[in-house]
Amino acid sequence: MRREAYERQKGKCPKCPKGKQVTLDIGGMHADQIKPWSKGGKTEAKNCQMLWADCNRRKGAQ
Ligand SMILES: [Zn+2]
Repeated sequence: MRREAYERQKGKCPKCPKGKQVTLDIGGMHADQIKPWSKGGKTEAKNCQMLWADCNRRKGAQ
């Protein structure tokens, strides 16, 4: 599932500003639920995105 999301994004983090997206190694990314489980999100590839670890932390802080 992680690999599927990663390949769909072509290794880029969707949270990075446009033009600043770098292609990342899958090992440096964190799996993220687009729609959280608490709101009915399912554990499936289309609800999964791969975020750069830093972006994921930033998102969590909001
Ligand atoms: Zn990012």
